[in-house]
Amino acid sequence: MTQEQVLDVLVIGAGSGGYIASIRAGQLGLKVACVEANPYADPRGEPRPGGTCLNVGCIPSKALLSSSEEFEKIERHAAAHGIRVSGATMDVPAMIARKNAIVTKMAQGIEYLFRKNKVVYLKGRATILGRTDEGFRVAVTRSGSTQELTTRNLLVATGSLPRQLPGIEIDNVDICDNAGALDLPTVPRRLAIIGAGVIGLELGSVWRRLGAQVTVVEALPQLLPMCDTDVAREMLKLLTAQGMDFRFGARVTGLDRASDGSLSLAYVDAQGAAHSVACDKLVVAVGRVPTSSGLGLETIGVKTTERGFVDVDAYCRASVEGVYAIGDVVRGPMLAHKAEDEGVMVMERIAGLAGHVNYGAIPSIIYTSPEVAWVGRTEQELKEAGIAYRAGRFPFTANGRALGNGDTSGFVKVLADQKTDAVLGIHIVSTYASEMIGEATMAIEFKASAEDIGRISHAHPTLYEALREASLAIGTGALNL
Ligand code: FAD
Ligand code: NAD
Repeated sequence: MTQEQVLDVLVIGAGSGGYIASIRAGQLGLKVACVEANPYADPRGEPRPGGTCLNVGCIPSKALLSSSEEFEKIERHAAAHGIRVSGATMDVPAMIARKNAIVTKMAQGIEYLFRKNKVVYLKGRATILGRTDEGFRVAVTRSGSTQELTTRNLLVATGSLPRQLPGIEIDNVDICDNAGALDLPTVPRRLAIIGAGVIGLELGSVWRRLGAQVTVVEALPQLLPMCDTDVAREMLKLLTAQGMDFRFGARVTGLDRASDGSLSLAYVDAQGAAHSVACDKLVVAVGRVPTSSGLGLETIGVKTTERGFVDVDAYCRASVEGVYAIGDVVRGPMLAHKAEDEGVMVMERIAGLAGHVNYGAIPSIIYTSPEVAWVGRTEQELKEAGIAYRAGRFPFTANGRALGNGDTSGFVKVLADQKTDAVLGIHIVSTYASEMIGEATMAIEFKASAEDIGRISHAHPTLYEALREASLAIGTGALNL
């Protein structure tokens, strides 16, 4: 690209938000470039697109969750189906290689989509230099060489990085963040995890299924406070029964390494008593921080919040006209699909269309077994907001497909407005909750009533019949309970 060309939009970051936004911009005929400085280089040593989600997040974690689930099914659940398997062994390097091959293939797919949609892909680190009459000036630096660009609009999609704990240095060998925890070469005998959030539970599940004794040390007094209380209670019961050892209300006070290489994580409980957890590997999963510093946002006067998020409105417009920010670097849940939806909205608005995101209908999923999925509001949120509601619940113990599958854990809970019957929230604990939440999201997006869901034909026998039954439970009553 020559220096004279003025772009319609420059996207900084080729993660979930940035790469999807760039493709949409290309589809809309905008002159677009996307810059990526990914520290997780591909086998050719090139900065690779896909961001956290593709390289060290959603995709590799789900690949390992799937492999470890297959192993656990063979080891522990096949016998119940009358299948006798003996001597199943695991090959962790093969699992990791399979995961890496999926990531590489998808990264190549993004580069192909960039070419197909005329997105100029620039490998390097972007720094905002300032503003001229023509637009924003941005430098892209790689291996000592710098290219300068001018763009009418700027989309900041720089994502987030793992939050660090003072005194606990990540080496991604023994003391890992998400990247290291997705690349362990063998199954640790004892794995400690700081943080019982989404990463802690998902990656804890992977290594527990493969044989690790997993201890999770959590600062809060309870599990999953963002979930509906019934869901959180059910998950604590199920995950504990699977062998995860939770230590709640724990304040981490230090980490020691013995001469044999083993680790000892010290913490103080809510009563002030001191404890320690001996482990072979430690994963730190205590949330993520937005990547907004060092980018030069201040040179053009873009405001950030106290916690480092780029300050944006509901349309992802930053405090300076022509500057937008999306995904993990702005407010809202740190989810790949939320970043994508925002990216599409921004490009459509730059192109003069009416893009929007319904922040009330963004589904969340935790890929444990069973899975947890929800959309809309929790029962405690409705109570706090003083909204009168009715709740319908249906357990998978009464669902024929779940019985056939051999996994009846969990339930569906539907919350609907007491007066209008509009669906306000749907909460699912079940195998394949991640797939069932699609119908629930559609119901909320289309402002369905619980009665609407109850009257829609649901194929039999399926797990998602439970969603209909829970909706019927609010009105005329569930049919199979
Ligand atoms: P990112 O994906 O982080 O991308 C930002 C990109 O910007 C990075 O590649 C970075 O290198 C680049 N960048 C930063 N600064 C610069 C610069 N100055 N110049 C050039 N490039 C720059 N979400 C889900 O919805 N579902 C899941 O199942 C899920 N699983 C996850 C599992 C794990 C272990 C983790 C860590 C996260 C998971 N997430 C999941 C969250 C999801 O990964 C993020 O919400 C998503 O990646 C955010 O997208 P983004 O585009 O905002 O940022
Ligand atoms: P999280 O916010 O989900 O959980 C972090 C946990 O660590 C919290 O429970 C918190 O109370 C605890 N914690 C914080 N400081 C602590 C301390 N000093 N000692 C002990 N516990 C402490 O964050 P995460 O699990 O790191 O995940 C980061 C983000 O990535 C999340 O926002 C999530 O949305 C996203 N993610 C999504 C998925 C998914 O959609 N399936 C999967 C993984 C990650």
